[in-house]
Amino acid sequence: MNSVNVDKYSRSLFRPTTVLVEDEASGYPLTESILSRLPNAEVVVIKRPTSENLVRLSQQFSPDTTLLLGSHRGRFLKACPGTAESYRCCLYQILHLGLGCNIGCSYCVLQGYLNNPFITQFVNLDDAFAELDRELERPGVFYRIGTGEFTDSLFMDPLTGLAPRLLDYFGRCENAVLELKTKSVAIAGLLDYPGEIGETIVSWSLNAPQVCKKEEGHAATIEERLTAAALCRQRGYRIGLHFDPLLYFTGWQDEYRQTVASIFTHLEGSDIIWISIGAFRFMPQVKEVLKANHPKTNITAGEFIRGIDGKQRYFSDIRRQLYRFLVTEIRRYAPDLFIYFCMEDKYLWQDTFGFAPADNQELSHWLDKCCYCFVDK
Ligand code: SF4
Repeated sequence: MNSVNVDKYSRSLFRPTTVLVEDEASGYPLTESILSRLPNAEVVVIKRPTSENLVRLSQQFSPDTTLLLGSHRGRFLKACPGTAESYRCCLYQILHLGLGCNIGCSYCVLQGYLNNPFITQFVNLDDAFAELDRELERPGVFYRIGTGEFTDSLFMDPLTGLAPRLLDYFGRCENAVLELKTKSVAIAGLLDYPGEIGETIVSWSLNAPQVCKKEEGHAATIEERLTAAALCRQRGYRIGLHFDPLLYFTGWQDEYRQTVASIFTHLEGSDIIWISIGAFRFMPQVKEVLKANHPKTNITAGEFIRGIDGKQRYFSDIRRQLYRFLVTEIRRYAPDLFIYFCMEDKYLWQDTFGFAPADNQELSHWLDKCCYCFVDK
Protein backbone atom coordinates (compact mmCIF):
# COMPACT_ATOMS: atom_id res chain seq x y z
CA MET A 1 0.00 0.00 0.00
CA ASN A 2 2.79 2.37 0.83
CA SER A 3 3.91 3.60 -2.59
CA VAL A 4 5.33 6.82 -1.17
CA ASN A 5 8.92 7.29 -0.22
CA VAL A 6 8.65 7.30 3.59
CA ASP A 7 11.09 10.18 3.75
CA LYS A 8 8.47 12.33 2.05
CA TYR A 9 6.23 12.15 5.10
CA SER A 10 8.75 14.09 7.07
CA ARG A 11 9.94 16.49 4.40
CA SER A 12 8.89 20.12 4.37
CA LEU A 13 7.90 21.33 0.93
CA PHE A 14 9.47 24.65 1.82
CA ARG A 15 13.15 24.93 2.83
CA PRO A 16 13.93 28.64 3.12
CA THR A 17 17.50 29.81 2.89
CA THR A 18 16.66 33.13 4.56
CA VAL A 19 14.45 33.82 7.55
CA LEU A 20 13.23 37.34 8.21
CA VAL A 21 12.34 37.65 11.89
CA GLU A 22 10.23 40.61 12.94
CA ASP A 23 11.77 42.07 16.09
CA GLU A 24 8.47 41.39 17.92
CA ALA A 25 8.72 37.72 16.93
CA SER A 26 12.17 37.18 18.42
CA GLY A 27 12.43 34.94 21.45
CA TYR A 28 9.17 33.03 20.96
CA PRO A 29 9.57 29.24 21.36
CA LEU A 30 8.22 28.72 17.83
CA THR A 31 10.77 31.15 16.40
CA GLU A 32 13.56 29.34 18.20
CA SER A 33 12.42 25.89 17.13
CA ILE A 34 12.01 26.89 13.47
CA LEU A 35 15.45 28.51 13.44
CA SER A 36 16.96 25.42 15.08
CA ARG A 37 15.63 23.35 12.17
CA LEU A 38 17.27 25.69 9.67
CA PRO A 39 20.82 25.88 10.95
CA ASN A 40 22.23 27.08 7.63
CA ALA A 41 19.65 29.76 6.91
CA GLU A 42 20.60 33.43 6.94
CA VAL A 43 18.61 35.11 9.75
CA VAL A 44 17.75 38.78 9.38
CA VAL A 45 15.93 40.63 12.16
CA ILE A 46 13.68 43.37 10.80
CA LYS A 47 11.19 45.90 12.11
CA ARG A 48 7.56 44.99 11.61
CA PRO A 49 7.16 45.72 7.88
CA THR A 50 4.53 47.98 6.35
CA SER A 51 3.02 47.01 2.97
CA GLU A 52 5.53 49.25 1.20
CA ASN A 53 8.39 47.73 3.15
CA LEU A 54 7.23 44.26 2.17
CA VAL A 55 7.58 45.21 -1.49
CA ARG A 56 11.03 46.61 -0.87
CA LEU A 57 12.05 43.52 1.11
CA SER A 58 10.83 41.24 -1.68
CA GLN A 59 13.27 42.99 -4.04
CA GLN A 60 16.07 42.26 -1.61
CA PHE A 61 15.08 38.72 -0.50
CA SER A 62 13.42 36.29 -2.88
CA PRO A 63 9.98 35.22 -1.60
CA ASP A 64 10.71 31.79 -3.13
CA THR A 65 13.40 31.11 -0.57
CA THR A 66 12.52 33.41 2.33
CA LEU A 67 10.31 32.75 5.33
CA LEU A 68 8.91 35.60 7.40
CA LEU A 69 8.29 35.02 11.11
CA GLY A 70 5.86 37.51 12.56
CA SER A 71 3.65 38.20 15.52
CA HIS A 72 -0.04 38.45 14.67
CA ARG A 73 -1.87 41.34 16.27
CA GLY A 74 -5.43 40.83 15.02
CA ARG A 75 -7.92 38.06 15.60
CA PHE A 76 -6.72 34.53 14.93
CA LEU A 77 -10.17 33.03 14.54
CA LYS A 78 -12.07 34.36 11.54
CA ALA A 79 -15.19 33.34 9.68
CA CYS A 80 -14.41 31.75 6.30
CA PRO A 81 -14.89 34.48 3.69
CA GLY A 82 -18.00 32.91 2.13
CA THR A 83 -18.79 35.84 -0.08
CA ALA A 84 -22.53 35.92 -0.87
CA GLU A 85 -25.65 34.74 0.87
CA SER A 86 -27.00 33.29 -2.39
CA TYR A 87 -24.26 30.65 -2.35
CA ARG A 88 -24.40 28.18 0.50
CA CYS A 89 -21.43 28.43 2.85
CA CYS A 90 -20.73 25.88 5.61
CA LEU A 91 -19.79 28.58 8.17
CA TYR A 92 -16.34 27.26 8.74
CA GLN A 93 -13.95 29.08 11.08
CA ILE A 94 -10.38 29.76 10.06
CA LEU A 95 -7.57 29.67 12.56
CA HIS A 96 -5.21 32.18 11.03
CA LEU A 97 -1.70 31.06 11.92
CA GLY A 98 0.13 31.72 8.70
CA LEU A 99 -0.04 33.02 5.18
CA GLY A 100 1.05 31.77 1.79
CA CYS A 101 2.26 28.50 0.35
CA ASN A 102 4.90 27.55 -2.20
CA ILE A 103 3.16 24.56 -3.78
CA GLY A 104 2.36 26.76 -6.75
CA CYS A 105 -1.12 25.78 -7.98
CA SER A 106 -2.01 27.83 -11.02
CA TYR A 107 -5.55 28.37 -9.76
CA CYS A 108 -4.58 29.41 -6.22
CA VAL A 109 -6.88 32.18 -5.01
CA LEU A 110 -4.19 33.48 -2.67
CA GLN A 111 -2.49 35.05 -5.71
CA GLY A 112 -5.19 37.66 -5.75
CA TYR A 113 -5.77 38.09 -2.02
CA LEU A 114 -2.44 38.44 -0.32
CA ASN A 115 -0.43 41.64 -0.38
CA ASN A 116 2.38 39.96 1.51
CA PRO A 117 4.74 38.18 -0.93
CA PHE A 118 6.43 36.10 1.79
CA ILE A 119 5.33 32.81 3.26
CA THR A 120 4.62 33.96 6.78
CA GLN A 121 4.36 32.05 10.02
CA PHE A 122 2.89 33.70 13.10
CA VAL A 123 4.79 32.63 16.17
CA ASN A 124 2.68 34.02 19.03
CA LEU A 125 0.80 30.76 19.44
CA ASP A 126 -0.07 31.38 23.07
CA ASP A 127 -2.09 34.41 22.00
CA ALA A 128 -3.94 32.21 19.50
CA PHE A 129 -4.71 29.57 22.14
CA ALA A 130 -5.80 32.24 24.63
CA GLU A 131 -8.23 33.61 22.04
CA LEU A 132 -9.51 30.08 21.35
CA ASP A 133 -10.01 29.54 25.10
CA ARG A 134 -12.18 32.64 25.28
CA GLU A 135 -14.12 31.83 22.11
CA LEU A 136 -14.74 28.17 22.88
CA GLU A 137 -16.24 29.06 26.24
CA ARG A 138 -19.45 30.13 24.49
CA PRO A 139 -22.09 27.65 25.60
CA GLY A 140 -23.93 25.51 23.06
CA VAL A 141 -21.74 26.44 20.10
CA PHE A 142 -19.90 23.81 18.06
CA TYR A 143 -16.89 24.88 16.01
CA ARG A 144 -15.40 23.43 12.85
CA ILE A 145 -12.02 25.07 12.59
CA GLY A 146 -9.43 24.80 9.86
CA THR A 147 -5.98 26.22 9.22
CA GLY A 148 -5.88 25.60 5.47
CA GLU A 149 -7.57 28.66 4.03
CA PHE A 150 -4.75 31.19 3.66
CA THR A 151 -2.07 28.52 3.46
CA ASP A 152 -1.71 24.73 3.16
CA SER A 153 -2.09 23.21 6.64
CA LEU A 154 0.87 20.83 6.44
CA PHE A 155 3.25 21.82 3.64
CA MET A 156 5.91 23.05 6.05
CA ASP A 157 4.80 21.24 9.17
CA PRO A 158 8.13 19.39 9.53
CA LEU A 159 9.66 22.85 9.90
CA THR A 160 7.09 24.41 12.21
CA GLY A 161 5.95 21.35 14.18
CA LEU A 162 2.61 23.10 14.32
CA ALA A 163 0.30 20.11 13.84
CA PRO A 164 1.38 18.43 17.09
CA ARG A 165 0.88 21.74 18.93
CA LEU A 166 -2.62 22.01 17.52
CA LEU A 167 -3.36 18.40 18.46
CA ASP A 168 -2.27 19.17 22.03
CA TYR A 169 -5.05 21.75 22.08
CA PHE A 170 -7.81 20.28 19.92
CA GLY A 171 -7.27 16.65 20.94
CA ARG A 172 -9.04 17.48 24.18
CA CYS A 173 -11.71 19.85 22.86
CA GLU A 174 -15.28 18.75 23.21
CA ASN A 175 -17.01 21.49 21.26
CA ALA A 176 -14.56 21.97 18.38
CA VAL A 177 -12.99 19.89 15.65
CA LEU A 178 -9.85 20.79 13.79
CA GLU A 179 -9.51 20.12 10.07
CA LEU A 180 -6.04 20.17 8.53
CA LYS A 181 -6.23 20.54 4.74
CA THR A 182 -3.30 19.78 2.49
CA LYS A 183 -1.90 18.72 -0.85
CA SER A 184 1.31 17.52 0.76
CA VAL A 185 2.19 14.25 2.47
CA ALA A 186 4.05 15.86 5.37
CA ILE A 187 2.23 13.72 7.91
CA ALA A 188 5.07 12.44 10.08
CA GLY A 189 4.06 14.81 12.91
CA LEU A 190 0.53 13.41 12.77
CA LEU A 191 1.52 9.75 12.61
CA ASP A 192 4.08 10.06 15.41
CA TYR A 193 1.88 12.14 17.68
CA PRO A 194 1.78 10.26 20.98
CA GLY A 195 -1.31 11.82 22.57
CA GLU A 196 -5.05 12.07 22.09
CA ILE A 197 -5.94 13.04 18.53
CA GLY A 198 -9.57 13.62 19.45
CA GLU A 199 -11.86 14.21 16.51
CA THR A 200 -9.19 15.75 14.28
CA ILE A 201 -9.86 15.55 10.55
CA VAL A 202 -7.03 15.41 8.02
CA SER A 203 -8.20 16.37 4.57
CA TRP A 204 -6.72 16.21 1.13
CA SER A 205 -7.66 18.32 -1.84
CA LEU A 206 -8.01 16.05 -4.84
CA ASN A 207 -8.31 16.60 -8.53
CA ALA A 208 -7.96 14.84 -11.86
CA PRO A 209 -4.47 13.35 -12.39
CA GLN A 210 -3.94 15.65 -15.38
CA VAL A 211 -4.88 18.72 -13.32
CA CYS A 212 -2.54 17.60 -10.58
CA LYS A 213 0.29 17.26 -13.09
CA LYS A 214 -0.30 20.47 -15.02
CA GLU A 215 -1.82 22.86 -12.50
CA GLU A 216 -0.73 21.89 -8.99
CA GLY A 217 2.95 22.82 -8.94
CA HIS A 218 4.91 20.45 -6.73
CA ALA A 219 1.98 19.06 -4.78
CA ALA A 220 2.09 15.35 -3.99
CA THR A 221 0.55 13.08 -6.63
CA ILE A 222 -3.00 11.83 -6.15
CA GLU A 223 -1.68 8.37 -5.27
CA GLU A 224 0.69 9.84 -2.71
CA ARG A 225 -2.06 11.93 -1.13
CA LEU A 226 -4.37 8.94 -0.87
CA THR A 227 -1.63 6.71 0.54
CA ALA A 228 -0.99 9.36 3.17
CA ALA A 229 -4.72 9.54 3.87
CA ALA A 230 -4.86 5.78 4.41
CA LEU A 231 -1.96 5.98 6.85
CA CYS A 232 -3.64 8.80 8.77
CA ARG A 233 -6.83 6.78 8.88
CA GLN A 234 -4.92 3.82 10.32
CA ARG A 235 -3.64 6.17 13.03
CA GLY A 236 -7.26 7.05 13.84
CA TYR A 237 -7.73 10.39 12.10
CA ARG A 238 -10.95 11.13 10.32
CA ILE A 239 -10.40 11.78 6.63
CA GLY A 240 -11.98 14.58 4.60
CA LEU A 241 -11.65 15.02 0.85
CA HIS A 242 -12.17 18.14 -1.23
CA PHE A 243 -12.62 18.27 -4.99
CA ASP A 244 -12.04 21.95 -5.41
CA PRO A 245 -11.64 23.38 -7.97
CA LEU A 246 -13.24 21.02 -10.45
CA LEU A 247 -11.98 21.95 -13.89
CA TYR A 248 -13.74 21.43 -17.21
CA PHE A 249 -11.41 20.21 -19.94
CA THR A 250 -11.33 17.65 -22.74
CA GLY A 251 -11.54 14.18 -21.23
CA TRP A 252 -12.54 15.37 -17.76
CA GLN A 253 -14.92 12.44 -17.20
CA ASP A 254 -12.24 9.75 -17.54
CA GLU A 255 -9.82 11.72 -15.45
CA TYR A 256 -12.18 12.37 -12.55
CA ARG A 257 -13.46 8.78 -12.75
CA GLN A 258 -9.88 7.63 -12.29
CA THR A 259 -9.40 9.75 -9.17
CA VAL A 260 -12.65 8.54 -7.62
CA ALA A 261 -11.64 4.93 -8.28
CA SER A 262 -8.26 5.61 -6.62
CA ILE A 263 -9.95 6.96 -3.52
CA PHE A 264 -11.68 3.68 -2.94
CA THR A 265 -8.62 1.54 -3.51
CA HIS A 266 -7.07 3.33 -0.52
CA LEU A 267 -10.05 4.07 1.71
CA GLU A 268 -13.44 2.69 2.57
CA GLY A 269 -16.40 5.02 2.28
CA SER A 270 -16.79 4.75 6.06
CA ASP A 271 -13.28 6.18 6.55
CA ILE A 272 -14.32 9.48 5.02
CA ILE A 273 -16.25 12.03 7.03
CA TRP A 274 -17.18 14.23 4.05
CA ILE A 275 -16.34 15.16 0.49
CA SER A 276 -16.80 18.72 -0.66
CA ILE A 277 -17.06 19.78 -4.28
CA GLY A 278 -16.63 23.18 -5.86
CA ALA A 279 -16.24 24.17 -9.50
CA PHE A 280 -13.47 26.54 -10.58
CA ARG A 281 -14.15 30.18 -9.75
CA PHE A 282 -11.99 33.26 -9.40
CA MET A 283 -12.17 36.97 -8.80
CA PRO A 284 -11.75 38.84 -12.11
CA GLN A 285 -8.63 40.65 -10.87
CA VAL A 286 -6.93 37.29 -10.22
CA LYS A 287 -6.96 36.44 -13.94
CA GLU A 288 -4.06 38.68 -14.92
CA VAL A 289 -1.96 37.65 -11.90
CA LEU A 290 -2.68 34.01 -12.65
CA LYS A 291 -1.67 34.38 -16.30
CA ALA A 292 1.49 36.25 -15.37
CA ASN A 293 2.47 33.65 -12.74
CA HIS A 294 1.48 30.64 -14.84
CA PRO A 295 1.84 31.59 -18.53
CA LYS A 296 1.31 27.99 -19.72
CA THR A 297 -2.07 27.45 -18.12
CA ASN A 298 -5.27 27.91 -20.09
CA ILE A 299 -7.73 27.38 -17.24
CA THR A 300 -9.18 30.88 -17.58
CA ALA A 301 -9.55 30.62 -21.36
CA GLY A 302 -13.15 29.39 -21.51
CA GLU A 303 -16.36 31.35 -21.11
CA PHE A 304 -17.42 32.34 -17.63
CA ILE A 305 -20.32 34.16 -16.08
CA ARG A 306 -19.99 36.66 -13.29
CA GLY A 307 -21.66 35.28 -10.16
CA ILE A 308 -23.53 37.32 -7.56
CA ASP A 309 -20.39 37.32 -5.45
CA GLY A 310 -18.46 38.95 -8.32
CA LYS A 311 -16.49 35.79 -9.08
CA GLN A 312 -16.14 34.32 -12.54
CA ARG A 313 -17.73 30.86 -12.70
CA TYR A 314 -18.51 28.25 -15.33
CA PHE A 315 -22.02 28.43 -16.75
CA SER A 316 -24.47 26.53 -14.60
CA ASP A 317 -24.90 23.86 -17.27
CA ILE A 318 -21.19 23.02 -17.07
CA ARG A 319 -21.25 23.05 -13.27
CA ARG A 320 -24.27 20.77 -13.33
CA GLN A 321 -22.47 18.26 -15.60
CA LEU A 322 -19.38 18.25 -13.41
CA TYR A 323 -21.35 17.84 -10.18
CA ARG A 324 -23.74 15.17 -11.37
CA PHE A 325 -20.93 13.13 -12.82
CA LEU A 326 -18.73 13.31 -9.76
CA VAL A 327 -21.53 12.66 -7.29
CA THR A 328 -22.70 9.65 -9.32
CA GLU A 329 -19.18 8.23 -9.44
CA ILE A 330 -18.66 8.66 -5.69
CA ARG A 331 -22.06 7.17 -4.88
CA ARG A 332 -21.19 4.02 -6.87
CA TYR A 333 -18.64 3.23 -4.18
CA ALA A 334 -20.12 4.93 -1.14
CA PRO A 335 -23.86 5.56 -1.41
CA ASP A 336 -24.17 7.08 2.07
CA LEU A 337 -21.14 9.33 2.09
CA PHE A 338 -21.92 12.96 2.92
CA ILE A 339 -21.13 15.14 -0.09
CA TYR A 340 -21.63 18.90 -0.07
CA PHE A 341 -20.93 21.89 -2.25
CA CYS A 342 -18.61 24.69 -1.32
CA MET A 343 -20.21 27.99 -2.33
CA GLU A 344 -22.89 26.80 -4.71
CA ASP A 345 -26.46 27.98 -5.22
CA LYS A 346 -29.56 26.17 -4.03
CA TYR A 347 -30.69 25.38 -7.61
CA LEU A 348 -27.61 23.31 -8.32
CA TRP A 349 -27.94 21.63 -4.92
CA GLN A 350 -31.49 20.74 -5.84
CA ASP A 351 -30.55 19.58 -9.36
CA THR A 352 -27.73 17.38 -8.15
CA PHE A 353 -28.96 15.98 -4.85
CA GLY A 354 -32.71 16.54 -4.99
CA PHE A 355 -32.52 18.72 -1.87
CA ALA A 356 -30.82 21.92 -0.76
CA PRO A 357 -29.97 23.48 2.57
CA ALA A 358 -32.41 26.28 3.31
CA ASP A 359 -29.59 28.56 4.41
CA ASN A 360 -25.98 28.56 5.60
CA GLN A 361 -27.02 27.59 9.11
CA GLU A 362 -28.67 24.43 7.86
CA LEU A 363 -25.60 23.42 5.85
CA SER A 364 -23.43 24.17 8.85
CA HIS A 365 -25.69 22.01 11.01
CA TRP A 366 -25.37 19.10 8.56
CA LEU A 367 -21.59 19.24 8.79
CA ASP A 368 -21.68 19.51 12.57
CA LYS A 369 -23.87 16.43 12.59
CA CYS A 370 -21.26 14.54 10.54
CA CYS A 371 -18.78 15.33 13.30
CA TYR A 372 -21.04 13.99 16.05
CA CYS A 373 -22.21 10.95 14.10
CA PHE A 374 -18.93 9.78 12.59
CA VAL A 375 -18.29 6.45 14.24
CA ASP A 376 -14.72 5.32 14.50
CA LYS A 377 -14.20 1.67 13.76
S1 SF4 B 1 -1.83 24.11 -2.09
FE1 SF4 B 1 -3.53 25.52 -1.72
S2 SF4 B 1 -2.56 27.33 -0.81
FE2 SF4 B 1 -0.94 26.14 -1.79
S3 SF4 B 1 -0.72 26.99 -3.86
FE3 SF4 B 1 -2.15 25.24 -4.00
S4 SF4 B 1 -4.19 26.18 -3.77
FE4 SF4 B 1 -2.70 27.70 -3.04
